[in-house]
Amino acid sequence: MEYSFEQAKIIGGIGADDEYWRSLSRGEFRLSRCAVCKGWMWPAHFRCAQCGAWELEWVEVEPRGTVFTWTRSWYAFDRVKERAEDVPYVTALVELAHAGGARVLGMFEGPDEVIRIGAPVRGEIRPPTAKSKNYPSIVWVPDPAVARAPWGGAAP
Ligand SMILES: [Zn+2]
Repeated sequence: MEYSFEQAKIIGGIGADDEYWRSLSRGEFRLSRCAVCKGWMWPAHFRCAQCGAWELEWVEVEPRGTVFTWTRSWYAFDRVKERAEDVPYVTALVELAHAGGARVLGMFEGPDEVIRIGAPVRGEIRPPTAKSKNYPSIVWVPDPAVARAPWGGAAP
């Protein structure tokens, strides 16, 4: 049976980010932006906080940014028992400067010495699995294009 985000959807959210998940399931990384003033709206919501417009657009952006913050989970939380065998795992909040500084959460896969605040990363879109509660996901990995600089920042 063909994948449908609507069938996997967890009931309870307001649904403003549904298009994010639909886009990921098609292999596209899209964030929301106000269609009137072009201000980025992330996390997604229904109305622009800057100009009050209700129209938004979902813009495909390059999944590339820097680690804003991260954490390592040492405990198998009740709501994500699917990840129990992966403990400890790292989750990163990644800032995308080219998308208004939107910060997008995802798992991090890479060596321990790479994960730190400011580390350059790129996102890989993964298909839905039981571990991701049948949602597609973005996984942040070290960005080889800029990770060679010894201080971890972009090369001059
Ligand atoms: Zn606006």
